[in-house]
Amino acid sequence: MSKQARLAAGARLGRRSFMTLAAGAVAVRGSLFAAEAAEGVVLPALPYAQDALAPVVTAQTVSFHYGKHHQGYVNTLNKLLAGTALAGKPLEEIVRATAGQAGQAALFNNAAQIWNHTFYWNSLSPAGGTPSGALAEALVRGFGSVDACKAALTEAALTQFGSGWAWLVAEKGQVRAVKTPNAETPLTQPGVIPLLTIDVWEHAYYLDWQNRRADYVKAVIDQRLNWAFAAANFARSVAGQA
Ligand code: MN
Repeated sequence: MSKQARLAAGARLGRRSFMTLAAGAVAVRGSLFAAEAAEGVVLPALPYAQDALAPVVTAQTVSFHYGKHHQGYVNTLNKLLAGTALAGKPLEEIVRATAGQAGQAALFNNAAQIWNHTFYWNSLSPAGGTPSGALAEALVRGFGSVDACKAALTEAALTQFGSGWAWLVAEKGQVRAVKTPNAETPLTQPGVIPLLTIDVWEHAYYLDWQNRRADYVKAVIDQRLNWAFAAANFARSVAGQA
């Protein structure tokens, strides 16, 4: 199927299938963010082989980051959810319901980290590439140029003190770069649609780059961003589907 046909099919099928198709994954589960009631929240499959992002993100890093950290959030969340009113709810609903709620921090942190990490794996692509089409036009409108967009994303990633995330987001078609600490996510901000994210927790880069966060961020932005995924997310923003 051509890229255009895939995007059109995604628009017809709605958001969940759209993200699966945009990521180039086979729609086996139906959603990258699947939350089947019977088995609890599940760890979505990686959209590529564990060694596909090397040398920017090596198989060793992916094996720990996906296999231990991401899986760990899934295991912990399912324990925390057992017997609560949120058990069996979709992951995004759990994230939104617990954000900023007193006494719900553990649920929020684990649920949001699952969502953020799934979004991160889909924000990366073995082939990398460059933004095109309506997204590229929006980046030029918002930042002045694609290079200026990359510089703003870099600044967000490097100025996030301690653990957190750098994001490219859109709101009503307007793009900007933001950062969030710890498990915080733009998903909880009404009207804001995440386009891409870069994990800047130390576990994301320390095995490959040690303390050199700047080198990791530059390599990811130059060589491994999934601009097709960002474009698909941006299309939803333009359509006004918050
Ligand atoms: Mn991480």
